[in-house]
Amino acid sequence: MSVSFLDRAVSGVHALRPYEPGKPVEELQRELGLSDVIKLASNENPLGPGPRALAALRDATPGFAAYPDGTGFRLKHKLADHLDIDPARIALGNGSNDVIDLLARVFLGPGRAAIFSEYAFAIYALVVRAVGAEAKVAAARPRDDAMSLGHDLDRFRELLDESVRLIYIANPNNPTGTWLAPDALVAFLDAVPEDVVVVLDEAYREYMDPALLVPSRHLLDRHPNLVVTRTFSKIHGLAGLRIGYALGDANVINLVNRVRQPFNANSFAMVAAEAALDDAEHVARSASLNRTGREWLRAALTERGLATLPSQANFITVDVGRPASVVFDGLLREGVIVRPLGGYGLPQSLRVTVGTEPQNQRFIAALQRVLDGG
Ligand SMILES: *Cc1c(COP(=O)(O)O)cnc(C)c1O
Repeated sequence: MSVSFLDRAVSGVHALRPYEPGKPVEELQRELGLSDVIKLASNENPLGPGPRALAALRDATPGFAAYPDGTGFRLKHKLADHLDIDPARIALGNGSNDVIDLLARVFLGPGRAAIFSEYAFAIYALVVRAVGAEAKVAAARPRDDAMSLGHDLDRFRELLDESVRLIYIANPNNPTGTWLAPDALVAFLDAVPEDVVVVLDEAYREYMDPALLVPSRHLLDRHPNLVVTRTFSKIHGLAGLRIGYALGDANVINLVNRVRQPFNANSFAMVAAEAALDDAEHVARSASLNRTGREWLRAALTERGLATLPSQANFITVDVGRPASVVFDGLLREGVIVRPLGGYGLPQSLRVTVGTEPQNQRFIAALQRVLDGG
């Protein structure tokens, strides 16, 4: 008799499927015998880490055998200086996904609920359901809206009830690239009960037009129920090292530290992150390359009659007007890896990360060939 381990799993796991990451470059090269594959699928920085982070990693002293500093003393103090915040208000994570998960483990469980948007970052549904909590999904803005498929905070408010303990907001959101007007977010925070924790995920903050930035550091002081998460995976180019953090009220951060594995942030990630914080030049160069590339891509896609979503992030989501999985496969054969969004409920959309200028040109040329051929 074979055991159905699915029946034995906690109920929240039944609704989950393993997360499908973007295909690794090496795998596609092996499969197709291609040598020159580009990956524009995981919103990584095409410039990689900055020179300061690389130099710090080269000179890193911690060694492989020693456990990392479980308090993250140096990185937290560096962040504290940068952000003018008490280190007791910072929790480090093995990527910001880790702190997003830790917050669910602190505040959610069976009989409790979290709100997030339709077409929001996939990790929210994963962490909420994994702990047996209810996911209340707020309908996104309509397609013909200026902020097409973006978060609709009015819908969030309608879903508030006694069971809701946590709200996840991504600004900008992945995979839509959409953002919230700062005053809309401020009004939302004023309306949410002060014992409901609002997680503002700012993974792409550094890519935004400065005029659109939410004053999140200032809002943290006004709203003890606000938690802001940030990462070194995106503009700092350190996704492979896994390091991110949460900022919040010291009492909330204390709860996160209760469930956190003591060595969740590794030595090398912390060393690189510290140096990356000092590399304003690399951040500026990356943001500028992204802005130019994003505008160029958007124009090139629009010129070909394809509808794109507005984006303040380092990617563009495009409606290819046919099953995106077919276009995705065609692009793979051209050696270009992008992200099909069927898993997000957008079966005609692809998300493409803004690359370097030659990478963007290669993507558009390959897309043209695929669309012409099919
Ligand atoms: C990429 C991304 C993150 C960052 O994940 P890490 O675990 O820090 O690599 C967080 N939120 C969103 C919306 C993202 O797209």
